[in-house]
Amino acid sequence: MAQPKRQPRKPADLTDYLQQRVHFGDLIIPIAVSLEADDSVIVSTLYSGSQWPKRESPPPGLAFRFCRLSEAPPVQVRNFAATYGVLGPSAAAFFGHRTPRPRSAKTWTEPVRLWHKAASMTRALGRLAAALREREPGAASDWAIASAREATPIDSRHLSVAERRELFLHLLDQWCEVARPTERSEWLKGDGPSTRVEGAAAQSSLLCAVTHELRLAANSEKGLVICTSCHYAYYPPRMVPIGQPRKFCDEEDCGLRGAWRMAKQLGPTGPTTATGGQKGALDG
Ligand SMILES: [Zn+2]
Repeated sequence: MAQPKRQPRKPADLTDYLQQRVHFGDLIIPIAVSLEADDSVIVSTLYSGSQWPKRESPPPGLAFRFCRLSEAPPVQVRNFAATYGVLGPSAAAFFGHRTPRPRSAKTWTEPVRLWHKAASMTRALGRLAAALREREPGAASDWAIASAREATPIDSRHLSVAERRELFLHLLDQWCEVARPTERSEWLKGDGPSTRVEGAAAQSSLLCAVTHELRLAANSEKGLVICTSCHYAYYPPRMVPIGQPRKFCDEEDCGLRGAWRMAKQLGPTGPTTATGGQKGALDG
């Protein structure tokens, strides 16, 4: 008798397991941060006598706030470091900067232009993720920034859609590796276990949180979108349909105000949808 024909096995549905709790390792907040050498370097005091740095869990949306430092004045970079911590030694190695010799074990020195580079890289990858989601090629300037570390310069104009997607994933993976992350399970107080992602060094906790939040947002169902007003990528509170002509993040000059301004400039060409970002200011 002939053997009954085997039905092809249905792949396991992992959706249930993928509704996971994930959190990032604590940020190490310096005791004091100052600008020195004509505002070109940031000097952070990590320890002082018996005073230890504060530890705080990274707030959601940190990656998108970090992007805004790409062209920020030194004082804004200093304030960010004082609130969320330093970049750490891996950032300098990634961009081929010589790590400045610390004056003492208690301090940490970083050039402001290193912060600009790290923020520009995050901004470029966020915008490329948003462009590729929209089936658009992405700006040549973003490709140039994101691929600056490649051995041979990449001219994005000659790449096919499939090549752009491949290259983007490679560059995103590379940036996510910067803090040499590890993950482990942690039992949260009054809660269940959660996956904790943290950098190899305590000083790289900011960069670990920024790169992995970018990856989680880019890989999520909603994905990233580019704000029509400020041209930064942001994580929308609701799904934004592909091809929606105007969308606004919740930065002060964008959001509803940006939508009104643009509607006024363009005239009555149809409804404008304001789709706010991380802070959810437009949720109500
Ligand atoms: Zn905006």
